Amino acid sequence: MKRELGIARCGLACCLCGQNETCNGCQSNECPDKDWCMNRKCSMEKGLEYCFECSENCGKFMLEKIKPKAFSEFARRYGIERLLDCLERNERSGIVYHRDGIKGDYDDFDDVEKLIKFIENAE
Ligand code: SF4
Ligand code: SF4
Repeated sequence: MKRELGIARCGLACCLCGQNETCNGCQSNECPDKDWCMNRKCSMEKGLEYCFECSENCGKFMLEKIKPKAFSEFARRYGIERLLDCLERNERSGIVYHRDGIKGDYDDFDDVEKLIKFIENAE
C-alpha cells in the first residue's frame, strides 16, 4: 500500500490502486481518466479536495457506484486517517483491493452500510 497517495476525490483508494505504479493519485492530476471524471471537475470548481466534504452529497458520476460511495461515506464519518488505517490493516490480513483488473474484495457488496462495516471489521 502506498499510503501517501491517500484516496481520490471520489473516494476510491489511490493508495491501493493497481495503476498506482504509473499514476501518483487523483490529486497528482496523472489519472488516466481525469478528463472525463466529473467528480474531479466539480469538486475542483467548488474548491474542495474531496466529494465527501461537499454539502450537496450529490451521489452522481463515480458516486453512483457502491465502492467510492462507501469509502467516501466512511471518510466523511470517521476521517481519512481512520479509513487508511483500516485499509492498511485489511491489506495485511490479505484483503485485496484490485485482484482482477479493477475488481477485488471490496467489490462484492450491493449495500453501502455493509461495505462500511467490512472496511472496519474485515477478517
Ligand atoms: S488511476 Fe485513479 S484511482 Fe488509480 S491511483 Fe490514479 S487517480 Fe487513483
Ligand atoms: S459530491 Fe457531487 S456536487 Fe459535490 S463536489 Fe462531488 S460531484 Fe460535485
